[in-house]
Amino acid sequence: MYRKSVWDKFDNYEDIMTYNEGYKSFITKGKTERLCVNEAIKLAEKAGFKPLETFKSVKPGDKVYSVNRGKNIAVFVIGKESLENGLNILGAHIDSPRLDIKQNPLYESTEFSLLDTHYYGGIKKYQWVTIPLALHGVVYKKDGKVIDINIGDEENDPVVGISDLLVHLSGDQLQKTANKVIEGEDLDIMVGSIPLKTADKDKVKANVLRIIKEKYDFEEEDFLSAEIEVVPAGKARDYGLDRSMVAGYGHDDRVCAYTSLTAVLDLKEVPNKTACAILVDKEEVGSIGATGAQSSYFINVIAELLSLEGKYNDLVLRHTLTNSKMLSSDVSAGVDPLFLGVNEMKNSAFLGKGIVLNKYTGSRGKGGCNDANPDFIAYIRKIFDNNNICFQTAEIGKVDQGGGGTIAYILANYNMNVIDAGIPVLNMHAPMEIVSKADVYEAYCAYLAFISA
Ligand code: MN
Ligand code: MN
Repeated sequence: MYRKSVWDKFDNYEDIMTYNEGYKSFITKGKTERLCVNEAIKLAEKAGFKPLETFKSVKPGDKVYSVNRGKNIAVFVIGKESLENGLNILGAHIDSPRLDIKQNPLYESTEFSLLDTHYYGGIKKYQWVTIPLALHGVVYKKDGKVIDINIGDEENDPVVGISDLLVHLSGDQLQKTANKVIEGEDLDIMVGSIPLKTADKDKVKANVLRIIKEKYDFEEEDFLSAEIEVVPAGKARDYGLDRSMVAGYGHDDRVCAYTSLTAVLDLKEVPNKTACAILVDKEEVGSIGATGAQSSYFINVIAELLSLEGKYNDLVLRHTLTNSKMLSSDVSAGVDPLFLGVNEMKNSAFLGKGIVLNKYTGSRGKGGCNDANPDFIAYIRKIFDNNNICFQTAEIGKVDQGGGGTIAYILANYNMNVIDAGIPVLNMHAPMEIVSKADVYEAYCAYLAFISA
């Protein structure tokens, strides 16, 4: 049952290193789901993909993309066989844990101005203080105008952040349990400290509003229709003296999104089955809403494609879904040498050992999981072995230690075969997550093998 290292498979690491430069650029620019979609559109168009709306019919080899509300994208290479025979689908999510600005966020306290936030996804709150943070998002005005917010990631931008108590006065704080050391309501972003001389009250807040009006042309009330995300500032960087890893924000799950997307974009030959990568939003909060995996958006796009193929009816759509196969491309928990106690080593994922198959995720008695069928696992093993792909199998941790979920079960509800297959990560959901460059490249190769089968 020994799984070999990806590093041992290659004579030189040029392909691994080159591929990861593209990935680092993608997550550095893609700090939000919207920005990931923008980057994905650029990559897709460069690879010759055209918007779904521009097609009058589809034929084998056509390269199609579709965007949903700026937060979802699906790319397709139409296969030689009819869609009804099923698609090979790679599904990943592009939302990551973060802090969202509240609708009425701005206030002043002791001559500081702050923005109130509500955290998104599962975070250890204490990890988000005393680090440089950036603001990314959009503000929609009543007249339909959209303002892009992008503060903290350019070289000369200011950054924002959340303060923590000095250790000298932390006697009481340090007695608290880790989930109470920093509480959700205290994750407020400091944004200013200069008073506006002409204001009557809340002079520092007034000055921040003056800057917002001058630079971004919106008023305080426009926060009501804004979507601004607070994320770690700065670029994704090489990690380790040997540059073997990437440190960055949002590997979960943009690392599987990028590898899935580029696998479809890079297909050299027309595949037998239509190849698809779908990048969804809202996974970290339950895959809900119009842009989450539970949305009918994806099925609607499949229906559109069937119609463009001249074959749409409800029964054909159902056949298409039942005959489809999917890798739910989401990150897995890598073994951390400093926290060995949480893993059962025979069934754990290691950085550098390639793509991870999770037959099931879930918690306690596999609660909430997609439990992949063994015949489908045999099919995947065969593809990976035939293509010399390094893969490993794992659970998220020891039984009863915790757990997690992905979008796997949602697509499986359409009666298609689905298994979780992704990249192991250290520090999952922390502001700085770690992946192995070897696994990033190997996952790309694995996804390419799957959609080429
Ligand atoms: Mn994930
Ligand atoms: Mn996650």
